[in-house]
Amino acid sequence: MIVLNLTCGNSHQFEGWFASADEFARQSATSLVSCPYCSDASITRLPSGPHVKRTVATAEARPEQIFAAVAELAKNSENVGAQFPEEARKIHYEEVPPRSIRGIATATEVKALIEEGIAVLPLPIPSKDEVH
Ligand SMILES: [Zn+2]
Repeated sequence: MIVLNLTCGNSHQFEGWFASADEFARQSATSLVSCPYCSDASITRLPSGPHVKRTVATAEARPEQIFAAVAELAKNSENVGAQFPEEARKIHYEEVPPRSIRGIATATEVKALIEEGIAVLPLPIPSKDEVH
């Protein structure tokens, strides 16, 4: 899993998580990647630099490292739980102000969102963070 710094045609900058750089190239070529702020699909990678975090290969990563990285990401987003697909659509169709959200969606729901052109990044959110 790698984190890429991305920018859209309107100069919004955001991070995208991908299995590999090749996976990003494949998804962006088919417009599966879009800006979380304005849904622009002309996404380009920012040059690699000190701000690009490269996580170790999934097979070698310790779960705690992945959880720590995801928890950091999740801290900056609103947990909407099972409302995630609904909230993601509202944001995409600009019914509510744009914001970062996270939550729970089934594989089928995620596939449907991606097919609608809605940017979702399936992440292994630590379960301890979700159970209260
Ligand atoms: Zn944008």
